[in-house]
Amino acid sequence: MRIFGFLLLSASALLAQLKPIDWGQQKAEILRHYRALVQLDTSEPRGNETLTVEYLKKVLEDEGIPTKTFALDPQRANLVARLKGNGSKRPLLILAHTDVVGVQREKWPVDPFGAVLKDGYIWGRGTKDDKPILAANLMVMLLLKRGNVPLDRDVIFLAESGEEADVTGVGINFMVKEHFDEIDAEFSLTEGGGAALEGSRVTVVNIGTAEKVPARVRLVANGTSGHGSIPRLDDPVTHLSGAVERVGTWQTPMRLNDTTRTYFEKLATISPPDRAARYKDLVNPQRTAAAQRYLAENEPGRSSMLRTSVVPTMLKAGIGPNVIPSEAEATLDIRALPDEDIVKFYADMQKIIGDPAVKIVPLPATRPASPASSLDTEMYRVLEQVSKRMYPGSTVLPTMSTGASDKAQLRSKGIQSYGIGPYSSEADTAQYGAHGDVERLVEPALYNFVEFDWNAVIEVAAKK
Ligand SMILES: [Zn+2]
Repeated sequence: MRIFGFLLLSASALLAQLKPIDWGQQKAEILRHYRALVQLDTSEPRGNETLTVEYLKKVLEDEGIPTKTFALDPQRANLVARLKGNGSKRPLLILAHTDVVGVQREKWPVDPFGAVLKDGYIWGRGTKDDKPILAANLMVMLLLKRGNVPLDRDVIFLAESGEEADVTGVGINFMVKEHFDEIDAEFSLTEGGGAALEGSRVTVVNIGTAEKVPARVRLVANGTSGHGSIPRLDDPVTHLSGAVERVGTWQTPMRLNDTTRTYFEKLATISPPDRAARYKDLVNPQRTAAAQRYLAENEPGRSSMLRTSVVPTMLKAGIGPNVIPSEAEATLDIRALPDEDIVKFYADMQKIIGDPAVKIVPLPATRPASPASSLDTEMYRVLEQVSKRMYPGSTVLPTMSTGASDKAQLRSKGIQSYGIGPYSSEADTAQYGAHGDVERLVEPALYNFVEFDWNAVIEVAAKK
């Protein structure tokens, strides 16, 4: 505790040297940029993210922050801006994607690109995913520049296109492949975390430190085609069905990493006794099977954090009720643990299938394998400290996403990458979350998140 107190002191002493920000004074400008960004329709599949790039370029350059744009597709540009530090530490990259998923307008009570203020919320596609991060990063750059804040590291701002559906590789893939020197950094901060609001208090802060790796395959069974009235032992539909059943019910080995071990340990400290006992049972050889079973039945999201998962998602076979097809295939959505040896995993899966008529055909990788980011870095410690200071009594949980994000590309290049995000109540996340029919953000969460982002950036990048 003494060490912790010292860290708190040094952080506030550091902040005291800087001109303090009057956050009340920033609200109007934060809201103006955020609403303007939500009002730009950058929905997939077209994206048109260059609209956002033009907006950001003007705002940044009007304040004397030079920008560079990089575009594989002129409609889907990326923008980079850099504030120089003294070079004593490696850069910090703050990034956000500028595209949003599509909308079904008839589901919306308001214009999805209106950024309408109603009932204390800002409504619109992207209000959670990912425009609060984009607006916060923009404000951080403006405030750093206005305050002339001396920096130990460069702070690099990246607004990237095509995160939601980057089929042509216009966003992070293009930047990492062609312009990595522009974004190379020790740490990155982006989406993929958040905070849970209970009543009027933030109780849990999730920091994204790891994610599973998509490793999808097709299962293909071949046999002899023929008349449906004449049964054949090599009928591919029968062989495929057996294989799908076996892999779909396969209990792959449970394996915890630093992130998930810490996650379940800390989750136990804030859970009611019965749930706490179950999370602890996961690492008890005598009781782990029952605990895993319970999670699979009742907490599937957490269950998926325990292991590489294999989920049959598509089936394709047959052209008519009286025709035996010569081929049948299934698609498996496999999400691998960050450290999975996937070649060996496929070999194990082939043994589980136990049928030479069924072949495993890996689909092209959509994301590179990405190691988990460390919990033992200056950036992670800063995020913990800022969380504890801004949300007294809260618990910080490092989290492994079961989905995939652009952090994968950055982690695969050695950048320790962390996911953060604004607070939201559980009910609001469930009903109005990212990619939902209707998306909204409670207004104070926006201002609070900009402050969180600022504190994190300052404490890791400002001159000490
Ligand atoms: Zn997103």
